[in-house]
Amino acid sequence: MSVMIRENLENVKTKMEASLQRAGRLEDAAGLIAVSKTKPVEMLMEAYEAGVRDFGENKVQELTDKYEQLPKDIRWHMIGHLQRNKVKYLIGKTALIHSVDSLRLAEEISKEAVKQGKDMDILIEVNVAEEESKFGVSLQDAAELVERISRLPRVHIKGLMTVAPLVNAPEENRKYFRALHELSVDIANKNVDNVSMGILSMGMTNDYEVALEEGATLVRVGTGIFGMRSAEEI
Ligand SMILES: *Cc1c(COP(=O)(O)O)cnc(C)c1O
Repeated sequence: MSVMIRENLENVKTKMEASLQRAGRLEDAAGLIAVSKTKPVEMLMEAYEAGVRDFGENKVQELTDKYEQLPKDIRWHMIGHLQRNKVKYLIGKTALIHSVDSLRLAEEISKEAVKQGKDMDILIEVNVAEEESKFGVSLQDAAELVERISRLPRVHIKGLMTVAPLVNAPEENRKYFRALHELSVDIANKNVDNVSMGILSMGMTNDYEVALEEGATLVRVGTGIFGMRSAEEI
């Protein structure tokens, strides 16, 4: 088992480097988040021992449980849909919340961060492909949402995130990755106080190579590192 995770990680990193090289980007231009949802802490520990420090989870309870059990130098990424009543559990434990798509959610994050005297870095989730089933603000509404959130205390926008459609050919998602990159450049050019567009979180096991060619600075890889999740676990 430990051999598998180590080998998978090597494989992903090699492919990441090749993608960055193809795009003429620097070798360290993008980071890897190991998406460990549904996987036991033993497997996360194997990845940790192989050097992983960034883990992604999509449920608050699971993230905070694993946070308690694992080394404190791990950076936890909340990548799933977030309910406002659970925000309080994440402040101080999560390095980055990737899934902010409404002013109301950002206001709750700000309120809790102020209450706890901590800062919280976030990304704005954009539903680039406009899929009914997906969360995220539309491309059209994203810039305005960024400006509104930028005024809130203790919450800091660091970039954009998207979950691209499930496709057979990853190439089909290139246009969405490109659109998110273009949006981030447009927003960066507005020079809004308290807004950075340094992070583009896009690309999963199936399509991270295309995402890297289109400017991703963080890819979120689960299956490609830890193996398949059972159907009911998503
Ligand atoms: C599960 C998940 C991933 C990882 O998906 P894989 O296909 O297993 O790499 C990435 N991002 C989000 C938001 C997820 O929920």
